[in-house]
Amino acid sequence: MKIRAAVLRKRGGPLKIEPLEMEGPQEAEVLVRITASGICHTDIGFVDYRDEADDPLILGHEGAGVVEQAGKKVKSLKRGDHVVLSYQSCGSCRYCRKGRPFDCSRFFEANFGMERLDGSSAYSPSEVKGHFFGQSSFATHALATEQNAVKVPKGLPLEMLAPLGCGMQTGAGTVMNSLAVSEGKSIAVFGTGAVGLASIMASRIVGAGPVIGVDIRRSRIDLARELGATHAIDARRGRIASRISSITGSGIDFFVDTTGDPEIQGIAVQCLNPNGTGALLAGESGTDDLPEGRRTIGIIQGDAVPQVFIPYLIRLYKSGIFPYDRLIKFYELKGINRAMADSRRGAAIKPVLVM
Ligand code: ZN
Repeated sequence: MKIRAAVLRKRGGPLKIEPLEMEGPQEAEVLVRITASGICHTDIGFVDYRDEADDPLILGHEGAGVVEQAGKKVKSLKRGDHVVLSYQSCGSCRYCRKGRPFDCSRFFEANFGMERLDGSSAYSPSEVKGHFFGQSSFATHALATEQNAVKVPKGLPLEMLAPLGCGMQTGAGTVMNSLAVSEGKSIAVFGTGAVGLASIMASRIVGAGPVIGVDIRRSRIDLARELGATHAIDARRGRIASRISSITGSGIDFFVDTTGDPEIQGIAVQCLNPNGTGALLAGESGTDDLPEGRRTIGIIQGDAVPQVFIPYLIRLYKSGIFPYDRLIKFYELKGINRAMADSRRGAAIKPVLVM
């Protein structure tokens, strides 16, 4: 079938909207007409750090849309279902069978292999690669599987739901699942972009306190306060550790780092209380050899099972306590380069492309 997709051919972009051919679904796949897709920092990272030897690539991993066709082995989805697309997993390794798809032994190839797990590709011309996170949602259509397509209620606009598949799930899941932050515990969130703000909203929901947002952008610090941070620190003014200790009277029980900045992480670790835990979300692995039981853990997708956690986030949103719609700014697909530029300079927290 004919599709249109934003194709990355050059480091730094621009991405170009190109007509392509895509195969129909295999037996275990669904064809999804993409309604909207969030843009995440991981997409922008691939644009900015692309190697010139890499094949042209279709990015996008926060897709939402409508199932147009389901392969004959697909049981849980049918034509017409509304779905939010999330990270991919193999569905058959021992972790997937135990209900821990975020630990899938084929996680890397399923999400970053840029082909199906059987090694095939649905796209032609064949030099164009896709299947990013098992979806490549910067396109009018995508192929997904029952592992990463989550059926959602039809009453809500799909363009609103797109960011749940990665950023919101990771930010909220880190607090609720990975760290299991409970009532009255103190937490600091370093970097209050989309993922960090999701962590802050989740911290408020679980009754944590103080909840401290740390960022270098005034507008984000203010938004962090509105969304649940009891305190906010402007990191440009320095003295982060001493300001945290003056807020809590000691250190913090938990932190979430979304910055990936080693200097910030060093400060964050220094602020941890004994037996405190820090979550690293920028792809690092953690360490448990810190003094007095302190540790850091590397987190993938907030240890969330998409089929469980995304409907849960939708219920929280509908009840008004997870107002992530405040972060969204909409763009047309052809505005993708502007959307990425706005995200880079902080003018958009969660850009969402509407196809
Ligand atoms: Zn697996």
